[in-house]
Amino acid sequence: MKNKLSHNTAPVKVSYSFMKIMTGSDLSLKRLPLMSAKSANPGPVVWLTACGHGDEVCGIVIVQEIFKNIRKRLLCGSIYAFPLMNPIGFETGSRNITVSREDLNRSFPGKLTGTLGERLANRIFSTIMDTSPNLVIDLHNDWTKSIPYTLLDHNPGHSHKAAYDKTKIIARQSGFVSIVDTDKLINTLSYNLLLNDIPALTFELCEPYLINEKNVKYGLDSISNILSHLGMIKPLTERFSYPTPVAYRAGKLLRYTDKPYSSKSGIIRFIAKPGEEVRRGQPFAKIVNAFGKHQETIIAINDAIVLGHSDSSVVFPGMPIMAFGII
Ligand SMILES: [Zn+2]
Repeated sequence: MKNKLSHNTAPVKVSYSFMKIMTGSDLSLKRLPLMSAKSANPGPVVWLTACGHGDEVCGIVIVQEIFKNIRKRLLCGSIYAFPLMNPIGFETGSRNITVSREDLNRSFPGKLTGTLGERLANRIFSTIMDTSPNLVIDLHNDWTKSIPYTLLDHNPGHSHKAAYDKTKIIARQSGFVSIVDTDKLINTLSYNLLLNDIPALTFELCEPYLINEKNVKYGLDSISNILSHLGMIKPLTERFSYPTPVAYRAGKLLRYTDKPYSSKSGIIRFIAKPGEEVRRGQPFAKIVNAFGKHQETIIAINDAIVLGHSDSSVVFPGMPIMAFGII
């Protein structure tokens, strides 16, 4: 970040603590780390949540980096963070809560006396709700070969229009391509916050499994855009914007699709690359067999930007090959 630190006049109280989530069969404790930075000046309350999918690790470091100089940077309001929401999945390199095989981000708002995943979701959700936040950003990672983008849930309905409209404004401030999810997922953290009139969105920050410093920087720069937009840090001398083809420039809301799928089994030869534009009718992948014999050419059915492509070299009928943002 090129922005100079401001001289902060109001004190900022930073605290690191834990929330107990379970006791293991060997009586070991599992705890959720919780971070907060509160300015003496009143202002917006923003949450950062990370590693709800245990293999999507980049957000942990983004939270750590945001908190490194927060005492000097935060002008007003509060920032809270759960940097590691799924420690069980993280330690085993797995998306889900390994021991119960549950997907935490399909378990919200959770249940006080439910399954392990529902209890964990309930603790996280109720802790966030208790602070009456103005914004929640949930940090995730997508396919290994992908561009960073913000993901908005499907429309939560007219009675939650104000929160959804505010979320769209935040997505535009992110500097990323903004995608509206076409899957009607109802148990994500962000969707359940919207149902409670809290603006909330997901960042998909490229590859999972490893901390890639480039992706950390994308996340930091984007969050700085948003915090400065909210007046919580000094205005930026230079706003971040991820470079994309003009038609898909950051700020436009695009629709997500991973169609068309392959109709054949085989080996994928990718033609289009993440971040590129494909036009309707343009080939974006070829499927060949083990002898290299052509099986199928997959053709784009919309003008679109390529968000990312499959982590796999093998494809079977009905499997997605690429994800796109379409206007
Ligand atoms: Zn995820």
